Amino acid sequence: SLSQRLSTTVQRLRGRGRLTEENIREALREVRVALLEADVALPVVKALVERIKVRAVGQEVLKSLTPGQALVKVVRDELTALMGSAASELNLNVPAPAVILMAGLQGAGKTTTVGKLAKLLRERRKKKVMVVSCDVYRPAAIAQLETLAGQVEVLFHPSQPDQSPVDIARGAIESARKQFVDVLLVDTAGRTTIDQAMMDEIRALHAAINPVETLFVVDSMTGQDAATTARAFADALPLTGVVLTKTDGDARGGAALSVRYVTGRPIKFIGTAEKMDGLDVFHPDRIASRILDMGDVLSLVEEVERKVDQEKAAKLAEKVVKGKKFDLNDMRDQLEQMQNMGGLNSLLDKLPGIGQIPQHLKDKVNDREIVRSIAIIGSMTKKERRFPATLNGSRRARIARGSGTTPADVNRLLKQFQQMEKMMSKLSGGGIKGMMRGMKG
Ligand code: GDP
Ligand code: MG
Repeated sequence: SLSQRLSTTVQRLRGRGRLTEENIREALREVRVALLEADVALPVVKALVERIKVRAVGQEVLKSLTPGQALVKVVRDELTALMGSAASELNLNVPAPAVILMAGLQGAGKTTTVGKLAKLLRERRKKKVMVVSCDVYRPAAIAQLETLAGQVEVLFHPSQPDQSPVDIARGAIESARKQFVDVLLVDTAGRTTIDQAMMDEIRALHAAINPVETLFVVDSMTGQDAATTARAFADALPLTGVVLTKTDGDARGGAALSVRYVTGRPIKFIGTAEKMDGLDVFHPDRIASRILDMGDVLSLVEEVERKVDQEKAAKLAEKVVKGKKFDLNDMRDQLEQMQNMGGLNSLLDKLPGIGQIPQHLKDKVNDREIVRSIAIIGSMTKKERRFPATLNGSRRARIARGSGTTPADVNRLLKQFQQMEKMMSKLSGGGIKGMMRGMKG
């Protein structure tokens, strides 16, 4: 990955202690190859490397005490700048209904994204949402959207078999107005490749319904092709944003850079799973770090906040604040919450620097360890959990037998507990967020 290459280069540069114009050139070559390998389109790579070069040979890097880090920072800054630094919101600031038009090739994920977006708008932004399909070529596509609408509990506007896409969309707007709908999402037909008829149809549709948002939906796994497709759609339509789908299957992240550069439009959302809650607001600064493999720490914080049991977390925070003792019950709660978050491995993938840990070591930190730890704590008495200091040798042996583990396993768990206890007593409020911020370093 880009980060692996960069960190290797940077480590080498660090080893030399000083950065010269000569080894900066070497580093830039690495950046260039790594970006190409990350599937970033060539014109984008050229533009990016040029910008990095200007800054890298400047004082900022050469005179830095830690030139390797300074260079990584420049690369990250430029990646971020290229993608726009702040997350961009949907514009719903128009008289209702706000119309959102989806465009993109067949299979890009338009219909799925309409469902996800409908859910997000309904649940998080408390909007009344209606969806409509203008895919008149494939009746199955209309049925697909109707099913999704039912699933995410939003209104679905049905169409007649003989209606044109423009008629269907106009009918939907009319109906949305009558029912005081806030947002109308318009799904469209795509072809497998770019063709004139498709572009003409979507342009006519755009002209007829005057959407406040026209979102280009593109499959991140199409790599270099994503840039070509994006250019064709950006030429045909006044796009207002991009949705990058299937990022869960794309480890490289290059499509994000290319599409943003080619369309000049912000990526507003990314698809992260097939299921209806697999849609996230896109944060350019985070993807830049991800491409560099700094780990998606901020997304991790959000995920933790969404998935941990809020009540238990609040209780724990209260305990920490009040200076009450952290005990084995609290540790078990935390282990269970880790399990809920999909286990250690999914957490590990998001932590900084993990890209450098070899796979065979990652495999060692497996989720069986969590299960085992929970079993060990489960074999203790209530009193033992509250007062771990009472756990002498014979109690430890009993617990090992009860949980089908060994005394060494029990000792290891107690050691971990002591470390956590220490950390907890150091934490002065701030809860999980504070901890995560600490991790970011
Ligand atoms: P459309 O032809 O553009 O409407 O594409 P669809 O919405 O029908 O999606 C095509 C396929 O991609 C379906 O199997 C979806 O489940 C899948 N898909 C869409 N978005 C995502 C995503 O973010 N992640 C994953 N893993 N699959 C997705
Ligand atoms: Mg579709």
